[in-house]
Amino acid sequence: KRYSKEDVLKISKDLGVEFIHLQFTDIFGVMKNVAITIEQLEKALNNEIMFDGSSIDGFVRIEESDMYLRPDPSTFVIFPWATQVREARLICDIYDKNGNPFEGCPRNALKRVLKEAEEMGYKFNVGPECEFFLFYTDEKGNPSLVTHDNAGYFDLAPVDLGESARRDMVLTLKDMGFEIEASHHEVAPGQHEIDFKYDDALMTADNIMTFKMVVRIIAQRHGLHATFMPKPIAGINGSGMHTNMSLATLDGKNVFYDENDELGLSKVAYNFLGGLIKHSRAFTAITNPTVNSYKRLVPGYEAPVYVAWSASNRSPLIRVPAKRGNSTRLELRSPDPSANPYLALATILKAGLDGIKKEIEPPTPVNGNIYNMSGKERKEQGILSLPSNIYEAVKELSNDEIIKEALGKHIYDRFVDAIELEWKEYITRVTQWEIDKYLTKF
Ligand code: GLN
Ligand code: MG
Ligand code: MG
Ligand code: MG
Repeated sequence: KRYSKEDVLKISKDLGVEFIHLQFTDIFGVMKNVAITIEQLEKALNNEIMFDGSSIDGFVRIEESDMYLRPDPSTFVIFPWATQVREARLICDIYDKNGNPFEGCPRNALKRVLKEAEEMGYKFNVGPECEFFLFYTDEKGNPSLVTHDNAGYFDLAPVDLGESARRDMVLTLKDMGFEIEASHHEVAPGQHEIDFKYDDALMTADNIMTFKMVVRIIAQRHGLHATFMPKPIAGINGSGMHTNMSLATLDGKNVFYDENDELGLSKVAYNFLGGLIKHSRAFTAITNPTVNSYKRLVPGYEAPVYVAWSASNRSPLIRVPAKRGNSTRLELRSPDPSANPYLALATILKAGLDGIKKEIEPPTPVNGNIYNMSGKERKEQGILSLPSNIYEAVKELSNDEIIKEALGKHIYDRFVDAIELEWKEYITRVTQWEIDKYLTKF
């Protein structure tokens, strides 16, 4: 059930909620919150709560810093772990002081693209598969890189810290209204995956933010540190956020399915796929937004490297999972959980919609193992690579007006400025690898 303002006020009163966290997400995907007391809730729901946006990363300059938080009552949820005092949260949109949606708000950006889809007659449904690592913390509570187990994919580890933390995460998420579809140990030691049910893209983006918060909090309560960093350890699998998606009519009928097609896909699905392929190198800057993201996108660790799709092979960028009928969907395998989910889904959807509008045909599927092909063979088949670092990705982004439009000028400019700074910082470091390689050689 999706709550109204009146529901939120009534439930808060009935359950004795004392604190409400007003949450929002900054451009870089970090959740922020302002806590208010119950006495302020009505004011908050009337969109009268202001905050100073100038100290939030990537938001505004000092002189235009007054912002309004507009809570979305449908996102109201009680924190099950807060047992001393009752606490709840509301996810907010950010509005400027004149009452217009603030263009630096990622949730507003996603809403804009969703509206465009709606005007074309489509709802965007998304189901993510978030992977993460659990590491031990030291005596001071600082995270280490030591994992709690040596288990692997789907392994049933003896009851250990990681398993019981994961079970607790699943139970907490269920308490908060999540429908959990699967939860398992992933390929790497200490790596886990929890999958929750698909929903419309806005709800899913909210859910991803909530999910990451819950996983971190519960891990901490088990003396572990959960990280969504894409590649914390070289030489083993990184963490992805496979993104399963489909379009439906406004009354909920999947429009990706066509029983008469050889692969069971509709023209809309093929064109959406064509748009994803066409814009993939540009939206990678958003779906894989950190220096570290590109350490995951390398051969040998089940992460995509080449721009290709297939219905029978798991290695390419886009896969068509076997389910058909109302479950027909595309699985984009490049995103990682460091992405801002609002911006990632906004740019992915924008790419797909562009494919539909321009009737972009996808390239022929690649069913062999691309990793066994030589560079020459890939070239002959026209198979491109994903950008190999965030700098290259941002360059691709800067050449793609469609994807830039999905972000809006404000977000695009702030994002690029921040990445350029980070990149400069990164490439001027002298790493241990260089010392090992060159110190004695030259
Ligand atoms: N961890 C892999 C990745 O980086 C995915 C592994 C899997 O789910 N099959 O995308
Ligand atoms: Mg999975
Ligand atoms: Mg997985
Ligand atoms: Mg998957």
